[in-house]
Amino acid sequence: MAQLSNDCFAFGGALLTVAGALAEIQARVAPVVGIATVPLAAAAGRILARDIIATMNLPPHANSAVDGFAVAHADLMPDRETVLPVTGRAAAGHPLGRLARRGEAIRIFTGAPMPDGTDTVMMQEDCAVEDKRVRLKPGIRKGANRRHAGEDIARGETALSAGLRLRAPELGLAAALGHSELRVFTPLRVALLSTGDEVREPGTLLSPGAVYDSNRAMLAALLTGLGCAVTDFGIRPDRELALADTLAGASAGHDLIVTSGGVSTGEEDHVKSAIERLGTLHFWRLAIKPGRPVALGQVGGVPLIGLPGNPVAVIVTFVVLARPLILQLAGAAPSSPRLFPVRAGFAYRKKPGRREYVRATLQRQGDAVVAIKYPHDGAGILSSIVRSDGLVIVDEAASELAVGNIVDFLPFSEVIP
Ligand code: AMP
Ligand code: MG
Repeated sequence: MAQLSNDCFAFGGALLTVAGALAEIQARVAPVVGIATVPLAAAAGRILARDIIATMNLPPHANSAVDGFAVAHADLMPDRETVLPVTGRAAAGHPLGRLARRGEAIRIFTGAPMPDGTDTVMMQEDCAVEDKRVRLKPGIRKGANRRHAGEDIARGETALSAGLRLRAPELGLAAALGHSELRVFTPLRVALLSTGDEVREPGTLLSPGAVYDSNRAMLAALLTGLGCAVTDFGIRPDRELALADTLAGASAGHDLIVTSGGVSTGEEDHVKSAIERLGTLHFWRLAIKPGRPVALGQVGGVPLIGLPGNPVAVIVTFVVLARPLILQLAGAAPSSPRLFPVRAGFAYRKKPGRREYVRATLQRQGDAVVAIKYPHDGAGILSSIVRSDGLVIVDEAASELAVGNIVDFLPFSEVIP
């Protein structure tokens, strides 16, 4: 288990671009999780800790891709039908068990090992069977309908790389290569809390001036979706000592602390002073909109991410900064979410120098996919995230967009489970 340097988030720059922030994370943050061996069935969603190098070919043997007749291509007449005696049978799990001689046709079924001596399979639909002979059409290519041993994965090849998240296809491949257990990273243990005197638990009575805690429900789902084991530390009041108490408690037995709210620089923002009381704190001012500064710190050696309070800023800063940071702490290989080029269905003006994320839905118009801007763009409009498909990214250099411009689109499905 690696240890982060005590001041890994110290950063001198004033405004950080997204690319700059990601480079800092990649350079400074190491995995802090352990490694465990788990049965294949329990490995879904976990991150692979060791490369899986194939110790066998996949498929293990050359086999037929169809039901039909296996022959030596050299026995076929190039320009007219060939009639061959059917002298053997090979089914999946039941090899022929002998060499096929020249001039024989072997009845074969999908998945059956190719008999030695044959190289081509004629689909049964292209054959006429009469008595113990088969009539084969001309024109088939040598090697047709034959799957080679190792054509999927060859022995010695790296089938799955460490740092990969194990989804259904990865588990299928590991199983196909004979693995019943996998070495995976233990889940990142995250302590999660909300801050704010006005923030209330859903299901309780809402007093005047109060709001329900939406951030904690969102963040718990985002974190769980990334494979984290989340401990709920509830809602903490805007009081430095109470917060410091909670943070000190949360640092025990956790790999990361995630908070929301209380990190602006107003006089009611006590997360900042609570962290400074216990450890180190840095604000990363990202050149993005929406999104306030994100507080990064360490409490008792445990990294802490302090996200803004506004729900939309929470989502955006989570996606842009917290998600890559968490994935790296959890042992995942660095990767960028895929962006898709779409047409802007709206005009837009912005200040150059910062990257803006515009909530939008996608619409198909003829051959084009067009991004339609969501009409309300306040940082508190949570329904805008629910009702959008993702974010149009307007880069630092741009100062305006015109209708019809090609823009990068980040679908929420890439980053929100
Ligand atoms: P803050 O960053 O603490 O100044 O909060 C900014 C805005 O976000 C305020 O309107 C807060 O009421 C709101 N807010 C903060 N935390 C939460 C939360 N957990 N759920 C919903 N709204 C919140
Ligand atoms: Mg607050």
